[in-house]
Amino acid sequence: MKLDSSLRLKILEKVGIYSNRFGIEEPKVLLTTREVLNMPKEITQGRRTSAYKYLGVSYLQHNLVFINMRKISDEKTLENTIVHELIHMRFQYLSHGKRFNKLVRHGLAGKTFSPYKKRKK
Ligand SMILES: [Zn+2]
Repeated sequence: MKLDSSLRLKILEKVGIYSNRFGIEEPKVLLTTREVLNMPKEITQGRRTSAYKYLGVSYLQHNLVFINMRKISDEKTLENTIVHELIHMRFQYLSHGKRFNKLVRHGLAGKTFSPYKKRKK
């Protein structure tokens, strides 16, 4: 998809809407690998030079999400990727699998979740 300013705005709106529904603080959003590389190394550590391979990456510790617009070809993939990454933000201890996919489906269908509370360290 061509990443112009109106698409950028649309993505940020979607992230805002889903963040509200999922009970999470709205993350900062990166949309190009250039933006990932411009972040301080300690923030994107582990998924920095490899970020281009993925549709999306969540940097959970820093409330930061990368949506890889170069890899995203249509609206549906965009919506799926946004919801997938925000489900990671809301359910930080849940890894990929059946339960994760079910939450993504429910998220896409408009489900709301109770506010996320960080576990005490
Ligand atoms: Zn994932």
